[in-house]
Formats: sequence, C-alpha cells, structure tokens
Amino acid sequence: MAKRTLIKGGAIISVDPEIGELRTGDVLIEGDSIVEVSAAITAEDCEVLDAAGMVVMPGLVDSHRHFWQTGTRADSIDQVFWDLVASQWPKVAAHYRPEDVYATVLAGAADALSAGITTVLDWCHVVNTPAHAEENVRALREIGIRSRFLYGASMARKLHEFDGDVESEDSWAHARELYRREFEGTGGLLTFGLAIQGPDVTTMEITEADCAAARALGVPFAVHVGAPEGPEPMLSIKRMAEAGLLGPDVNFAHCCNSTDEELRLLAEAGGTATACPTLDMAFGMGTPATGRMRDAGLRPAVGVDSVIASSGDMFEELRLGLLYERLRRAQAIFATGVDVKNVEELAFTTREALESGTINSAHAMWLGDQVGSLTPGKKADIILLRADDLNLAPLSDMVGAVVCGANSGNVDTVFVGGKIVKRNGKLVGIDVERINRLLVEARDRMYAYDGYPGMRPPLAGTGR
Ligand SMILES: [Zn+2]
Repeated sequence: MAKRTLIKGGAIISVDPEIGELRTGDVLIEGDSIVEVSAAITAEDCEVLDAAGMVVMPGLVDSHRHFWQTGTRADSIDQVFWDLVASQWPKVAAHYRPEDVYATVLAGAADALSAGITTVLDWCHVVNTPAHAEENVRALREIGIRSRFLYGASMARKLHEFDGDVESEDSWAHARELYRREFEGTGGLLTFGLAIQGPDVTTMEITEADCAAARALGVPFAVHVGAPEGPEPMLSIKRMAEAGLLGPDVNFAHCCNSTDEELRLLAEAGGTATACPTLDMAFGMGTPATGRMRDAGLRPAVGVDSVIASSGDMFEELRLGLLYERLRRAQAIFATGVDVKNVEELAFTTREALESGTINSAHAMWLGDQVGSLTPGKKADIILLRADDLNLAPLSDMVGAVVCGANSGNVDTVFVGGKIVKRNGKLVGIDVERINRLLVEARDRMYAYDGYPGMRPPLAGTGR
C-alpha cells in the first residue's frame, strides 16, 4: 500500500462545494492523492500529522506567472508597462543566459512553494535559445512544484520585430521536440502548453499560425491581452473570435481592457481568463477584471504574474481581486447618487475570492480535475496555515479570515502530491542557501550590462 498520511484535527476549508468548511476535520492522503475529507477519520497504518490550531486548505493555484523574472524582483514597481517593453525586455531579457533562467526559475518556484502556492502556470517568454526553455523545465522538475510550463517566444527578440515578420513554420520546432521528450504521456507534476504572442503585440497571421501549432500538438495555449492602449480598443479577443480561434483550450491573461462583449464571447467558447490584480494596477495596465469576468459567465482566476512589481503572495491577489471589484461597484452606485445599502450590492464575496486563487485558477490552467480543492480523488496539494497567528485569530469566519487577513508568512506546512515540501515554516529538501547564491550570481550578470537603465542598485564589486 502507498504511504498514508492523516492530517488530523484542523479547521478545514475544502473549497469543494459538497464538503464546504469543517470547524474540525481530517484529511486522509494515500500516495499522491486525497482519499477522504470528513469530520473524523479513523485509519490504520498511517502517519498522523496533528493539525490542531491550523487551517487546512488546498494549495494556492497561480494561473499566471513568469518565474524567469525573479532575478529582477521589484525592479519595475515604479515603472509602467511600456517602460518594461522599452527597457527590461530588450535589454535585460536579451542578455539572459540559460543558467540565469535556471537560477531564477529555481528561486521563483521555491518562493512560491514557501508561500503556499503548489501549482503554477509558468509562462516562459525568454526563450532566446532552446537551452533557455530546457533550463526552465529542469528547474521546475528539480524543485518539485506542480506546473504547467508554457513555452513562449523571446520577448527580447520578437516584440519589436513583428511588423511583417511572419514566423517560419519551424518556430515551434523545439517546443514540439521538448514536449514529446519531456511531457507527453509522462503524468507527474509537469504539464505543457504554448504561450503565444497574440494580436496585442503581433499580427493575426502569426496568431492564427500559433493557434494552429498548439492544436496540432494537442496542447492548450495562453495569450496576454489588455495591455494599455490608445483611443481605439485592440479588441484582440474579438478578433480571435471572428477568426474562429477561441475554444476551451485558450486562456487569456489580464483582460483589463477587454470589453464585456469580448469576455462573453470567451465564456461562450469555453475559454478561461486570469486577472493579475497587483500587476494590473501597479503597471497602469488597467483595472482588474475579476468581477467583469464573473458577470460575463467566466470563472475569474487570479495570478501573481511577476515579482518585478508584486510580492508573489497569492493571498494578496485574492484580496485585491475582491477589493477592486467592491470599489468598482461602489463607485458605480455612488455615481448614481444612491448610497450602498448592503454588501450584496457589492457582490464579489470572500468565497469567490478564495475560489479565484484555487479551483478557478486550476480550471483556468486545465488542471481543474486534479487540484484546486480538497476533494477525494484529487491530488494531495494541501497547505496548513497557523490559525493562531495574530493576524488570523480567533478564526471566526474561516474563509473571511483567510481572504481578509492571511499572508504567506502564515504558511506552516505544504504538501505537493502527498509529499511534504514545507514543514514548521521551513522548506524541506530545498537548498535555499544554494538557490540564493545562484540567484545573486545571475543578478550580477544581468545588471552588469550597460544597456539597462532600470533601477539598478549599486552592487558591491561592480562599481555601479
Ligand atoms: Zn504575464
């Protein structure tokens, strides 16, 4: 029999509509899966983990992230989106070496696991050479996070060259080879997809070719939409709808400036959408679309996007997705001269916020049948939060306390596929000292280039 672990006596937030919350309950894990969630489980031959004083909930799911940008953490917090396009992508990204991708993905994934994020859609758009993609995958596999790796373009090479630059038929040749060698039919923690550039930054001709490439390979794909724009909306989702390119295999990230009609078209096609509340607001991208997604019939999902301008704490994304939607609705009511009378008018609830970073994000990255809730049969991706930490106590409304107050510092224990990767607040089996050393080496290489005018700190030894 596979190893069994009984998580006993925790306050359970299952995010499973059938199970709901249990003030005190148990979760039984067998091998890599959850086999039972109930108020009291009696089981023989299992290791018992005492969860008294803990919240037990599904691991957080980040459905939009670029781990490779961990090396330039916080560099863009005082920039807007187009600064990034003008500086970081063509300058820093252009100088990323494969070993920099390895180091930064390793560091990003370790940070995510420590923050209770057990599943990540990792969008790699620094594929300057095939080796960059290979090193990204190697780091994900080594760290042991559940991830859908999205093979993207190189922002450094392609973004400014799209005018008339119809990619050759071979532009996905290495993606196909990597998929077949490392992912297809292997099961396990890593899955695959393509990150295509889409109509916001390239032509419809290239977009059609990229969609066809993903579908020929039988993998899902994602598109960035909703960058800040001029007076005319880009209507990228609508243009893709008109070209017959939408489907359940497409995810759109941000969608800040996508119209309600576009979000409805996406919902009707069975596609998914992910807001990145912190980045959307920090970068002047626009307004987080969590509530508009929900109103259009989508299941709003959230993601961190990148620590270049956000903390990497998914609890913050849950909170900001909710708060922005409450603000938007309140302002609409105030604009009519009427007062807000009850919270129903503000609509977006803490439960919806929690779902956005768990079950909805899992659905958005095509893993909804595997993770995102504590449901028997799903993978045992589970986190324990210290409920007696002062920012969560006395845990009256369990979901409310987590959405309103939790942060990644409350994460005590993390399971990925039944395996403990964090216990008593410390990562297990992950050499943080080595990761930090590799990250600093990568950072120093990146900042050594003269072309980058960003907020380069004066680093010891570089004289800068
Ligand atoms: Zn992104």
